Amino acid sequence: MRLPPTGIVAASSAAAAPPHRSASPDAAATPGSGPRSSAPADAETEAQRAKRVQKQAKDCERWKARLLQSSPIVRFMRDELARAGCPFPPGLFRCQPCDAGAPAAIAGGFVPTQGIVLCQETLVNRDHMEDTMAHELIHAFDQCTTRVDWSQCAHLACSEIRAANLSGDCKFGRELKRGNWALAAKHHQACVKRRAILSLQNAKNCAEGHVAEEAVRHVWPHCFPDTAPFDEIY
Ligand SMILES: [Zn+2]
Repeated sequence: MRLPPTGIVAASSAAAAPPHRSASPDAAATPGSGPRSSAPADAETEAQRAKRVQKQAKDCERWKARLLQSSPIVRFMRDELARAGCPFPPGLFRCQPCDAGAPAAIAGGFVPTQGIVLCQETLVNRDHMEDTMAHELIHAFDQCTTRVDWSQCAHLACSEIRAANLSGDCKFGRELKRGNWALAAKHHQACVKRRAILSLQNAKNCAEGHVAEEAVRHVWPHCFPDTAPFDEIY
């Protein structure tokens, strides 16, 4: 991957590199323990809450172990990261509860110095986790292979476009594995664009006004066709 043009610069007040949070593909998704009760959330007792959190943590760990072992896209990305000189360490992925105060449900996040967080209360099933792991691994790949500056909205936009394009966020990865290469391209592109903008809007320094839309539009011609480490797809 080559660096995107950097015409759009993050607000100068940006401090540390932001985590790259991927919004849930289904922002309305509820934490995954069966149908939601019609009772208000605060009706949950402390004991019920503790039980729910425990189940979410257990499911998260179970899905993670299974995917690390058997997911083709996770294994492919692991091999490509190793080939690029950034083998991923044990413990790269962490299941944890995430900040529920974000505008959209957050499924996961990549923090360059800390690894990849999997938001156990948002992930609804193993497929959802697989898409999220693939998305965050694209960010890890970009971190490994480019001089990316996460505080710049243009750089972030580029990586978010690639992550939405190449993970299962828009079901591209899944369809690719099935051999369905001739998807409705326009629909896919619209999905990638929307997902990338949503992710940028979750990053504090790219959320204002039309910064997210502008950043995505600006780097799109350069970054959408960049499918590394996958082979060319068209
Ligand atoms: Zn992302």
